[in-house]
Amino acid sequence: MGFFKSILSKVKAGLERTREVLVEGSLGIKNLLLGRRLDEALIQELEARLIQGDVGVKTTQRLIDGIRAAFKAGTLTSGEDVLAYLKTELKAMWPPADRALRLAPANSKPTVILVTGVNGVGKTTSISKLCATLRGQRKTVLLGACDTFRAGAVRQLEIWGERLGVEVVKGQQGGDPAAVAYDACAAALARGVDFLILDTAGRLHTQDPLMRQLGKIRTVVAKQIPGAPHETLLVLDATSGQNALRQAEEFDKALAAGQLADTTKPADATKSPGLTGIFLAKLDGTAKGGIVIAIKDVTNIPVKFIGVGESPEDVQPFDPETFVEALFAI
Ligand code: GDP
Repeated sequence: MGFFKSILSKVKAGLERTREVLVEGSLGIKNLLLGRRLDEALIQELEARLIQGDVGVKTTQRLIDGIRAAFKAGTLTSGEDVLAYLKTELKAMWPPADRALRLAPANSKPTVILVTGVNGVGKTTSISKLCATLRGQRKTVLLGACDTFRAGAVRQLEIWGERLGVEVVKGQQGGDPAAVAYDACAAALARGVDFLILDTAGRLHTQDPLMRQLGKIRTVVAKQIPGAPHETLLVLDATSGQNALRQAEEFDKALAAGQLADTTKPADATKSPGLTGIFLAKLDGTAKGGIVIAIKDVTNIPVKFIGVGESPEDVQPFDPETFVEALFAI
C-alpha cells in the first residue's frame, strides 16, 4: 500500500463516524445530492444538512452562496456538480503555509512548543503523539512538565517519556510552573535538543489566575529563548463539537488580549500573539468532525494535527487533501 493510501485509510477510519453522518448516511450529503438535478429546494436541503453536520453557520453560508450563484450562472446543474464543488472549495480553505509547524530560525535551537487546553481533552496523549512524530523524524526532544497542579500529571508524562526515549524536566508538585519552564529551557539549551515541548496544567479560559500563569510561562520562555515559544498549541476534544470551537475562540482571545502580559513591561513589549495552532484530538470518536471546517472559518487558527486514536502513532499532520478525500471517499 502506498504511503498516501495508508495515511488516507487511517484518516478515513478516524473520520468514519463523521463520514457516516455528514456524507454517507441516509441524511448525508451524498445521499441527498447524487442523481438529483440542482434546484433551489435542493440547495436549501443541503444548507440544513451542512449545519447539522457541525460545519458551522458561517462556512455553510459561504458554500451555499457560492453554489447558488453558480447555479444561477448555469455552471452547476446537478448534485454531482455540487459534490465536486464542495470538495474543491473545502480543500482550498487551508493554505500550506498555515499548517506547517513554526520552527526556530535556521541554526538556532530549540523550537519551543507550548501546549495548553482544558482538562481531559487529550493534552498528555497529544504531547506523546507530538514526541513520537518528532522522534520518528530523528529529532531530539525534551519535555517540560509544567503541570505542577494535578497529582499524577508529571508521572503520566514521565511514563510516555520513558516509552519514547525522551527526558522530562520536572519540578515540585504544587511548585511554580514558570520555574519549571525556566529549568526546562536551560536544560534544552544545555543539551542542544531540537525541540522542547512544555506541558501546562489544564485550565478553562475563565480561570484568570491560571491564564495569567500561562502568560508568565510565555514571558519566562521568551526571555531565555528569544522568539519562543514558537508554537502555542491548544488541544481540543473533537467530540465536544461547537464547545471546542468556543474554547478555541476564548483561549485565543485571552492569550492575545494581553490578559497574560507581564504588567512590568510597556504594552507593546508584551503584545501576545495568541494561539498559533490547534491539535484536534479524538477525531476518531466523533461524528462531529465537521468542526475542523468551522474552526478554520470562525477562528482562522489552523488545525495542525489531528488525533485519530489513543496510541502515540495515532496522529496525522492535518492535510486538507487527505481530510476532504477521506470525508468524501466511497
Ligand atoms: P488530558 O487530561 O487533557 O491530559 O487528557 P489525556 O491525554 O489524559 O486523555 C484523556 C483521554 O482521552 C484518555 O483516555 C486518552 O486515551 C483519550 N484520548 C486522547 N487522545 C485521543 C484520540 O485522539 N482518540 C481517542 N479515541 N482517544 C483519545
